[in-house]
Amino acid sequence: MVISKALVWFRNNLRLHDNRTIAEATARHKEIVFVYVFDERHWKLSPIGQNMSSPRKLSFLWCSVIKLQQEIEKLGGSLLVVKGEQQEEVVKTMQKYQCEALYTTEEPGVYEALSLANVEKALMQKGMSVNIFNESTLYHPDDIPWPINKLPSVFTKFRKENEKQTSIREIVVSPTNLAMSKLQNLQKIAAEDFSIQEMNKPEKGTHFEAGEQAAFKRLSYYFDETDLIKTYKETRNGMIGIDFSSKLSAWLANGSISPRSVYQQLKNYEQKMGANQSTYWLFFELLWRDYFHFIMKKHGAHLFSKKGIQEEEYQWKREKDIFDLWCKGETGIPMIDANMRELNETGYMSNRGRQLVASFLTHDLEIDWRWGAYYFERQLVDYDVASNWGNWAYVAGVGNDPRNNRYFNILSQAKRYDNSGEYVRLWLPELKEIEGFNAHIIALLDHDIVINKVVVNRERYVYPIVDMQKWDY
Ligand code: FAD
Repeated sequence: MVISKALVWFRNNLRLHDNRTIAEATARHKEIVFVYVFDERHWKLSPIGQNMSSPRKLSFLWCSVIKLQQEIEKLGGSLLVVKGEQQEEVVKTMQKYQCEALYTTEEPGVYEALSLANVEKALMQKGMSVNIFNESTLYHPDDIPWPINKLPSVFTKFRKENEKQTSIREIVVSPTNLAMSKLQNLQKIAAEDFSIQEMNKPEKGTHFEAGEQAAFKRLSYYFDETDLIKTYKETRNGMIGIDFSSKLSAWLANGSISPRSVYQQLKNYEQKMGANQSTYWLFFELLWRDYFHFIMKKHGAHLFSKKGIQEEEYQWKREKDIFDLWCKGETGIPMIDANMRELNETGYMSNRGRQLVASFLTHDLEIDWRWGAYYFERQLVDYDVASNWGNWAYVAGVGNDPRNNRYFNILSQAKRYDNSGEYVRLWLPELKEIEGFNAHIIALLDHDIVINKVVVNRERYVYPIVDMQKWDY
């Protein structure tokens, strides 16, 4: 039976294509109200004393929501955008528009799960129905071979079993008409109304154009226009430019594109051009993403605890001054500082960079790994609760890594991934005249450098906060 009015609450599924929540609601109801709630938690202070979300991260989210609103309007509908406490706003909107049913998604984070549980409880008490869909992963949680509490603690087992026996569900087609969601006299809000500042494209580095269409444009660029996917496995550890990896993370994180759409593109490409190690490797990385999402569902708040899911008793330091140097990119270790400055300027950092700065913070500086995770949570435009906290725990040695303690020798990594010094010179203007690998080891040289007959003092760069001699390279 068709019930008359439903509310679709968008969370990290800011898209029209492959969106089961919309498909189910439009199939079952005569009228739909769409809402997005900017959670006030973004503006709250995290345990490291900064707002949970940086202006750049918020700007990307804002633009993604506005792009979705425009797409909904093109189909004749409207999207209500509000700010506040999630539970309160959703329940209020249900009542204001006299909706009988809610359609929304389940998200992997603990806070997100709690908000949903509260909404569910409040609505059930009022006799309203709540329909929850899982849209964030490639494999649907109901299709994997284990109940979530029996999920393997090692990624390889998870991957191999799924590859053998789990199929990926079909894509859900986009709606063609949303006229039934047209709201009368909907007041337009501006970014400033929510204390959000729209940020310009950074001068250099990665920039994500917001919205579903931009995500599909990137997908088609990476696969069809440039064939970059063909060499993904060889280039994915790069650090300069926009083409060394897919750069799909920000859209995947807020759901402007679904992992299944990426998978479909991958399969189409393989059919036309043939499969190779690189096409497989992108699939492999998407499985890591799935794995972290399921790990978070399995372990919940335990994953955010100091000892992590391994119950490891490390003596983490809580030295704010040292931590601040790491955040600002002023540790005196060029490879660390360049990556942190890239993060601060663009909201993005390569996977290689993320591993190095996380290893450096937790193993060399021995600072509480959760401080690093909070800082990334604030800065990353592609912040994804499960991928971020899961990867941090993994590098710190308190997550799901059987090898434990993923320590990286920063100088040998620099030698391997930035032997020419080009990357550090790009982000550290102080080093721009220092040629080649010397840019990484200026603090270790026992002589000043002469460039164009001018003596460049090797102490021009900040003094390293750890003894770099410990790293053989
Ligand atoms: P590609 O190499 O092109 O990979 C394709 C997609 O696979 C990515 O977009 C991402 O969705 C997924 N993926 C790739 N590597 C991983 C991985 N190790 N874990 C989970 N998913 C992966 N990724 C996020 O999306 N959000 C985060 O908040 C995040 N925090 C991280 C924190 C640390 C300490 C580390 C080490 C890694 C983190 N990653 C995170 C994973 C990874 O660094 C990024 O997904 C990747 O750099 C994004 O660039 P890309 O889209 O070009 O990746």
